[in-house]
Amino acid sequence: MAIERTLSILKPDATRRNLTGAINQRLEAAGLAIVAQRRLRLTRSMAEGFYAVHRERPFFGSLCEFMTSGPVVVQVLEGEGAVAHYREVMGATNPAEAADGTIRKDFAESIEANSTHGSDSVENAAIEIAYFFSEVDIVG
Ligand code: ADP
Ligand code: MG
Repeated sequence: MAIERTLSILKPDATRRNLTGAINQRLEAAGLAIVAQRRLRLTRSMAEGFYAVHRERPFFGSLCEFMTSGPVVVQVLEGEGAVAHYREVMGATNPAEAADGTIRKDFAESIEANSTHGSDSVENAAIEIAYFFSEVDIVG
């Protein structure tokens, strides 16, 4: 399998509960290297742009409100098959359906406040990484 990069976001429910380190420990233990990382507060327009694919969904407004409710940590993760691997390490979108030992099972508060974002394809990962990082910010 190829070395890939994926875009990760530690969401406001995670930063609010001081879970950045605990989640990062899971990532590194799973063999995902944090090759870029930045903490910021998303503006409404950044959140709406990032989640534009979901703009027709009923939860879009609430999701953008939540994503701007506190700081986030945006990260680039690198490793073997990192896109699919991180999706496995995160677990299902709804923590009630997430497998034991996954980040969302252990940390998520709800289907919306589910602690982490991970890109869903290599193509989207490249788009999402470019949304937050320049190539010079990423040190593998
Ligand atoms: P994932 O983050 O697992 O790729 P989606 O791309 O489907 O999930 O949704 C993006 C984000 O929108 C989710 O991580 C979650 O924060 C929120 N979300 C998804 N479905 C719902 C829902 N039914 N109700 C509220 N929020 C939702
Ligand atoms: Mg998604």
